[in-house]
Amino acid sequence: MKIIMLGAPGAGKGTQAKMIAEKYGIPHVSTGDIFRANIKNGTELGMEAKKYMDKGLLVPDELTVKILLDRVAKEDCAKGYVLDGFPRTIHQADVLEEALNKIGDKIDFAIDVDVPDENIIRRMSGRRACLSCGATYHIEHVPPKAEGICDKCGQELVLRDDDKAETVKNRLNVYHEQTQPLIEFYEKKGVLKSVDGTVDMKDVFAAIVGILGE
Ligand code: ADP
Ligand code: ADP
Ligand code: ZN
Repeated sequence: MKIIMLGAPGAGKGTQAKMIAEKYGIPHVSTGDIFRANIKNGTELGMEAKKYMDKGLLVPDELTVKILLDRVAKEDCAKGYVLDGFPRTIHQADVLEEALNKIGDKIDFAIDVDVPDENIIRRMSGRRACLSCGATYHIEHVPPKAEGICDKCGQELVLRDDDKAETVKNRLNVYHEQTQPLIEFYEKKGVLKSVDGTVDMKDVFAAIVGILGE
């Protein structure tokens, strides 16, 4: 099963993608997580990506596409995967489709997690991230057991540089201009499913399971 998560930054794509990955036993592939791991390790890719990420801009397709295609070519992705944060442009979607076509494959579901802009800014300022294991928390909705510490790996939680309010506004603009057109793109392919992302995360997940099947 090959799944794409669509939705604004902070809509809950990552939260839902992790639950999908666990329930259906497929890898969760997040280009944002891959970039952040590279930044943390000080790689050349990480340094290049950071320039764009800190401004709330997309990392150029030349860098992003190769990383994603390499990742999904790995053995553990053979039976499927859930993509979180890719594609983010029509060009990225075209490249992915072409790569899948070559192996006689296709995307099964593109799930749009729908959350209005007003809710997004509030969500992002409360998000706390573990840069070690990729876990995500929210100071009100999903607090860690001990304040500021990751439940899963014990590392310190941070407010991501790009989750500050000014940057979030840029990211929302970028989303509307470059990523939102993907909703129509996948609707035309007949694989688009929308869920209301404003409800409790368990209810969002129940709606997704209703789409993907038990
Ligand atoms: P995305 O991957 O789309 O950027 P995240 O999954 O990281 O979004 O979620 C953004 C923030 O909102 C996180 O702090 C997360 O814990 C919180 N969150 C996710 N889903 C919900 C929900 N249904 N209700 C309230 N808060 C949520
Ligand atoms: P969110 O879902 O909260 O927007 P992500 O972790 O998916 O956050 O992405 C963080 C940043 O990483 C983006 O703002 C962008 O700069 C970069 N990025 C992630 N995925 C892509 C992609 N597919 N194309 C271009 N840039 C990306
Ligand atoms: Zn952690």
